[in-house]
Amino acid sequence: MPELPEVETVRRGLEPVMHGATIINADQNRPDLRFPFSENFVARIKDCKITDIKRRSKYLIFVLDNDLTIISHLGMSGSFRIVKENSEDQPGDFAHEKSKDGKHDHFVFHLDKNGHRAKVIYNDPRRFGFMLLVPLNELDEHAYFKDLGPEPTGNGVSSEYLAQKLQTKSAPMKSVLLDQRIIAGLGNIYVCEALWRARISPERKASTLVTKGGKPSAKLSSLTTHIHDVIGDAIRAGGSTLNDHIQTDGKMGYFQHQFNAYGQEGERCQHENCKGVIARITQSGRSSFYCPKCQT
Ligand SMILES: [Zn+2]
Repeated sequence: MPELPEVETVRRGLEPVMHGATIINADQNRPDLRFPFSENFVARIKDCKITDIKRRSKYLIFVLDNDLTIISHLGMSGSFRIVKENSEDQPGDFAHEKSKDGKHDHFVFHLDKNGHRAKVIYNDPRRFGFMLLVPLNELDEHAYFKDLGPEPTGNGVSSEYLAQKLQTKSAPMKSVLLDQRIIAGLGNIYVCEALWRARISPERKASTLVTKGGKPSAKLSSLTTHIHDVIGDAIRAGGSTLNDHIQTDGKMGYFQHQFNAYGQEGERCQHENCKGVIARITQSGRSSFYCPKCQT
């Protein structure tokens, strides 16, 4: 499932082709994905120019010059690929993969940017993704966005902000960090990794990271830095694969990461001088991976 860094990588990959391009036509190949496309979807976006491509949490937002936006979510298995004019002649492997995937190509944007034509194809075998049209001025109040906390990539998530949110919370750190009202788009993988880096147990009661005076403890300040870093590192890793990736098969957004805690059950903890072994526990129905020895 794509996490925030993958979605941001997709956004950065689409930007050069889609930003400023006109949607000269579109093919909607089925009535629905996770739920139906907005009514008259193609007619309402045709001939519009894409003036911006944004990301909020794990949603992509295409801003059009008719004051509509397309909200797109990749679900479990959604991906975009770019086919540029004169570049459809790809080596053999690609042709095979493309025909195999073709039945899951559910939506195609036909674009023109300064006379250069390109197709951007949305493929989604499991169809948990979706696209819908929302007026730009209703975006902030939309059900998907109105209660979202700040992005983990920006200054909105500071140690002071977290101290204020955590000081009354008796819930375990794991569930507080997954709460989208506190931090938007931070998924299970990156919560596990940030807690491992900061040496904080996922079971630790959130309020114990805040001083009596309501200030962030040293551990909470460290965690804040690590939250920014794990997300930043993953976005950089995605960005570094992006060019190669598009050139070889035109797809974007899924890449292998090296994790220190997530999925590492039974492996030796990689913290220097720690002889612990990564354990897996279940919290609120989801797996937490952590080192019981150094994460307290
Ligand atoms: Zn350890």
